[in-house]
Amino acid sequence: MSEIKSVAASAPGKTNLFFAVGPLMDDGFHEVASVYLALDLREEISVSLSDSLEIQVLGSIPQNHLDQVPLDASNLVVKAADFVAAVTEGNLSAERLRFALTKNVPVAGGMGGGSADAAAALLAVADLWQNSAFSADQNMIASTVVLGADVPFALRGGVCIGLGRGEKLTEISGVSKLHLVLVTSDQGLSTPAVYQRLDELRAQRGQDPRKMPPAEVGHLVIDALKSGDLALLAEHLRNDLQEAALDLRPDLKLTLDAGLAAGALTGFVSGSGPTIAFLAADQRSAEALAVKLSSQGRPAIATSGPSVGAFIRDEH
Ligand code: ATP
Repeated sequence: MSEIKSVAASAPGKTNLFFAVGPLMDDGFHEVASVYLALDLREEISVSLSDSLEIQVLGSIPQNHLDQVPLDASNLVVKAADFVAAVTEGNLSAERLRFALTKNVPVAGGMGGGSADAAAALLAVADLWQNSAFSADQNMIASTVVLGADVPFALRGGVCIGLGRGEKLTEISGVSKLHLVLVTSDQGLSTPAVYQRLDELRAQRGQDPRKMPPAEVGHLVIDALKSGDLALLAEHLRNDLQEAALDLRPDLKLTLDAGLAAGALTGFVSGSGPTIAFLAADQRSAEALAVKLSSQGRPAIATSGPSVGAFIRDEH
């Protein structure tokens, strides 16, 4: 009896150490300029051939997070398989795949977990279908932004400046390991809702969301990252989505205050939130901070980055 072939792949969650939101564009998206950091908090997926579409979801995150992951064709792993099928000749269909997802990235937390699943699925499905049309070259990576803004970065990993919708990536090399603590929320925040609130807050201030200055990553944050000076880095971290996320979820300010009081170098909303990220001095401080915050009833995970981008796990 032949063994069922299964391909496993891994991809990182992310946080943004810098996130500038520029003008609202005609297509409804905003021009953004961010610094992505890939985290050692990784999604693991495996895929094999099946008679029908099957998606199984397990993981280290709380059950109420796992329950939010769709088990039908709206799951990003299925969209990733459709993407690979579209660039492949032959009669391939995501409807005949079985996916097993091991999720370690909180869902709807502004940490790109779904995008990481999609990135891992792109590699795993292409390998399963022995598809050489999908290769992780620059253009192919950029084109995967149609699956989600953070998919190109999950393929690439490391530390990158992301421009456009997040598909124009430039690596920032020489960044030493950073230690972070992430405080998750039971309830997610919708990314479009956070952008919409930011536009409303800008309009209330008399700014036209369509006429904001272009988004860019200044050299100060890049220099701070390369210097390894954590105090300097803490000074230059920025997230334009933070005010909107805090406006929608005022309780997050209490989490920020609690982390700072417990010794974090700085704290910020991760991406569109509601996850709050804290920068710690080293691994030990990160672990101590996570224990302290967890003991206050704030679910906290100590992690680090940069981590590598998506890769296929060797079969044993
Ligand atoms: P983004 O910032 O890219 O919107 P996020 O990191 O905040 O995303 P995700 O965990 O990627 O959040 O999930 C966002 C939504 O995407 C979920 O609420 C869920 O409905 C949907 N989704 C589709 N596929 C997946 C998947 N594989 N894992 C998690 N969520 C998924």
